[in-house]
Amino acid sequence: MLKKPFVTKEQLEAICEQYPTPFHLYDEAGIRQTARNLYKAFSWNKGFKEYFAVKATPNPTILKILHEEGCGTDCSSLTELMMSEKCGIVGDEIMFSSNDTPAEEFIKAKELGAIINLDDITHIDFLKETAGIPERICCRFNPGGVFELGTDIMDNPGDAKYGMTRPQLTEAYKRLKDLGAKEFGLHAFLASNTVSNEYYPELARILFEVAVEIKEETGVELSFINLSGGVGIPYTPDKEPNNIFVIGEGVRKAFEEVLVPAGLGDVKIFTELGRFMLAPNGHLVTRAIHEKHTHKEYIGVDACAANLMRPAIYGAYHHITVMGKEDAPCDHKYDVTGSLCENSDKFAVDRMLPEVEMGDLLVIHDAGAHGFSMGYNYNGRLRSSEILLKEDGSAKMIRRAETPEDYFATLEGFWE
Ligand SMILES: *Cc1c(COP(=O)(O)O)cnc(C)c1O
Repeated sequence: MLKKPFVTKEQLEAICEQYPTPFHLYDEAGIRQTARNLYKAFSWNKGFKEYFAVKATPNPTILKILHEEGCGTDCSSLTELMMSEKCGIVGDEIMFSSNDTPAEEFIKAKELGAIINLDDITHIDFLKETAGIPERICCRFNPGGVFELGTDIMDNPGDAKYGMTRPQLTEAYKRLKDLGAKEFGLHAFLASNTVSNEYYPELARILFEVAVEIKEETGVELSFINLSGGVGIPYTPDKEPNNIFVIGEGVRKAFEEVLVPAGLGDVKIFTELGRFMLAPNGHLVTRAIHEKHTHKEYIGVDACAANLMRPAIYGAYHHITVMGKEDAPCDHKYDVTGSLCENSDKFAVDRMLPEVEMGDLLVIHDAGAHGFSMGYNYNGRLRSSEILLKEDGSAKMIRRAETPEDYFATLEGFWE
């Protein structure tokens, strides 16, 4: 599918007069539309709720926009819980899906009334001793092995640190019931960034069958099933995006076939999507500041891997549009680089692009999730600002760029 920026060159140049590059730009209209489509796709399920994975885009303005569209938060750390609380998103609008959890985080989650999702059977006693067992509780499942769709291996749960084994799950529900828990959920995250309409329906069927077994084995009737994240987006233009309506319908079919006949037709479906909600609704905007002609052709930009780490660590493809040259032929082969003293700091390698001139604006696509949030300060590079393109077309800074003062702030005695 053709990748088109959600802004025009003229719009972007106007924004750049106000806010210097590099910055992350988010599309409010696109975020709202994505959330509305998700809710529509699952409107057949009473009690459906999306808990946005805060780690994907931890910005309060974004969380509040999503909250207005009905979404809660999926938190997994103290600061994510604090951010959610500050946004007024508390109680059962928080799913606390953490692992290797410190005691203070269970205490904070319990205080906020969050739904605690236990990653391990040993966490039952840990939670009991630190915060106490809440009435509402969730368990995370890991079936092991590999997760397949048809003949494709999608991911490798057997190698993943998360979740409980199937026998542990039965024990966990029995024990939680003995300890006074009254409302139960089940959660699993078995494959990441799936570009397939089959992932959620297949995962749902697995979890629904487990729910039926749990009811038979322990008498516990689950009240919600959390399909977690993992619905992906096509980073490369040759792939078709997922169709959330087909996905919602696939989950409904499994629901009707497995849960309804077992008397579990009241189960609520939850999701914890991050990438699907935000990635396409965010651009990293950067400017070409150097060209270099050596053994290869290089374009140096003013952003670097500290602003978007995925290409450097996963070799991930992110599509690039040279603004104003959308229709020009892609007849130049470039490496598009940042300034880190790391050769992996390349947004693109051997990428065919229109001829890039100094000062051109480049949009790096699909940076709205796991983009800014994975940023770091290597080489003393600073995190960029985050800008919201509002529905009325105006731009608003929702996080300022870091300054050298921020970078030095944690050093003892630096300014003395
Ligand atoms: C990262 C994560 C998510 C979101 O994953 P996406 O791939 O962004 O959809 C959801 N739930 C948990 C527990 C996670 O760790």
